[in-house]
Amino acid sequence: MGSVRLAGITKRYDDVTAVKDMNLDIEDGEFISLVGPSGCGKSTTLETIGGLTEPTEGTVNIDGEDVTGLPPKDRDLAMVFQNIALFPHMDVYDNMSYGLRVRKVEKDRVDRRVDEAAEIVQLKGMLDRMPSELSGGQRQRVAIGRAIVREPEVFLMDEPLANLDAKLRVHMRTELQRIQRKLDVTTIYVTHDQEEAMTMSDRIAIINHGELQQIAPPLTCYNEPANVFVAGFIGSPSMNMFAGTVTDGRLATDEFDVSLEGTDFSDGTDVTVGVRPDDVHWENAVDDSIPTTSPIEAYVDVMQPIGEKIYVYLQFEDPIARETVSVGDNENAQDQFLMGADSDVDIEEGQTIDVVFDRSNLHLFDMSTGDALVHGISDVDE
Ligand code: ADP
Repeated sequence: MGSVRLAGITKRYDDVTAVKDMNLDIEDGEFISLVGPSGCGKSTTLETIGGLTEPTEGTVNIDGEDVTGLPPKDRDLAMVFQNIALFPHMDVYDNMSYGLRVRKVEKDRVDRRVDEAAEIVQLKGMLDRMPSELSGGQRQRVAIGRAIVREPEVFLMDEPLANLDAKLRVHMRTELQRIQRKLDVTTIYVTHDQEEAMTMSDRIAIINHGELQQIAPPLTCYNEPANVFVAGFIGSPSMNMFAGTVTDGRLATDEFDVSLEGTDFSDGTDVTVGVRPDDVHWENAVDDSIPTTSPIEAYVDVMQPIGEKIYVYLQFEDPIARETVSVGDNENAQDQFLMGADSDVDIEEGQTIDVVFDRSNLHLFDMSTGDALVHGISDVDE
């Protein structure tokens, strides 16, 4: 069956290391997304699995067999890319069946497989249409259908929805999930969009600068990010981050301090403190059940309603007052942070309010390595 194992994969191009010592174990039937910023090595990793790129070091196993030196055609997989290369002069049937026909699969079998695939991708009545008569979403479904007829052990998909408009992209995500569940085929899916990865995958592999940062189910990456990079990359809007130092059993930043009772960090440890916007609360409206830090004074800079909630951009100081103190030195990102509030929250831009952080969802990272130290600190009387 379609298990995939990458062991110590490194890919170097002259002085660029596109992928560095990548180890991945993907189980049969899993939907895995490779996610990370542009240029982080996602496509190179996928191409290595597909046999389009030969690794500088390391091995690729598919279904227990070492396929590192094999060409793509000898690997039991099918690929779907961002740019859908359909043959313009062939109708949907001919496009979907092309791979089988060149392999001289007999006509009855070709017909049956195309029929089944067309049913799955919901193109049944359209087999005689030409690509020019199809919408973008339908063309992408033909490309997926073409991959399905091959009945591969593994699907490799590189940003297959990137060229579709936003609404269709969301619709096609659901379709892809449905198809993948139905076929139960191992799927490795490249995207730079963390939301796409979060919504579709059994596990996500987060990559930065060619290195695997974390591989885990979406909610684990969200709730227990392995390091500062994952914390900042997963979740939208991003986690707020502040620089702090452990002093006398407390975590002190320039603007606030938090009791660290219940933890055993040594004095002088430099940490990055992370808190998601939804874990920042206006003190007047915070639910009693939430264990909170002491109130922190913040200036309400900008409010952005998005429907069911409103994002409140906060600053530790009134920016006008601060500008008179240090002109030009007010762009420190740490000075601004974000709170997610109910849309009917009774606060206004220009006001100064007290906010609290949910202690159970504070994330502490080692400032020098970026590695996570703790997710959530115990409830104490501040
Ligand atoms: P992603 O898919 O995450 O955007 P890629 O895997 O395409 O990233 O690229 C990773 C890095 O490797 C980038 O710095 C890219 O410029 C470099 N790279 C990719 N392919 C080649 C190539 N054929 N020659 C030289 N450098 C390459």
